Amino acid sequence: MNKKTIIAVGAHPDDIEFGCPVTVREYIAKGYDAYYIIATNGENGFKIKSMRSKDRIEERKKEALKAAALVGVKKIYFLDYKDGFLEYSESLRKKLTLIIKDIRPEVIFSFDPANLEFDNINLNHRDHRIIGTAVFDAIFAAKNDFIYPDKKGKHMVSTILFYGTHKPDYFVDISDSINFKLDVMRNFKSQFPNFENFSKFLLENIIPKDNKGRYQEAFRKIEIVQISY
Ligand SMILES: [Zn+2]
Repeated sequence: MNKKTIIAVGAHPDDIEFGCPVTVREYIAKGYDAYYIIATNGENGFKIKSMRSKDRIEERKKEALKAAALVGVKKIYFLDYKDGFLEYSESLRKKLTLIIKDIRPEVIFSFDPANLEFDNINLNHRDHRIIGTAVFDAIFAAKNDFIYPDKKGKHMVSTILFYGTHKPDYFVDISDSINFKLDVMRNFKSQFPNFENFSKFLLENIIPKDNKGRYQEAFRKIEIVQISY
């Protein structure tokens, strides 16, 4: 029997870690194999200006690999698009679809493409909006026989968990794993050179909390139903 799998997708190295590393680890603990897809190299979100683009790309990949190893992720697919310039293209949708058909995940995590609040310039980054839309469309294409036919055959994802959402309806309590989440994020030294300061900001302003102050990973959950014709 094939192993159960999940895929988490981000536009940049560190997106998945903001969104869902504790929930991904919980799936791994339940026996799933987890895979990441990172669309861009993240070279333009770098805080150290003196490094060349090639070195910034390499550094961000190293950080992403370390963070993913801590979670227990099997593999990262780096799609190597230019940071800040991701376009919705046929080739992006095809790459995502073929990975989905190969890995055959039960669950996919990605940015919520419906979050068009434009109230936060970091969260509503153009690359985030584009990858969320492309993932949603690739999930459709993967369950279709004809759009990108290949010998793997079509695959139907069961559940989408959108992070970075403005309408969360599914919450995972991560209070007991909050230090783990911080340890994962600490790997992104190029992004958070003073992590002790940044972690305070994260806990106070970014990581969602319920009304008792318990930390959460918050999602908009889509269950995909198989229609019988
Ligand atoms: Zn990002």
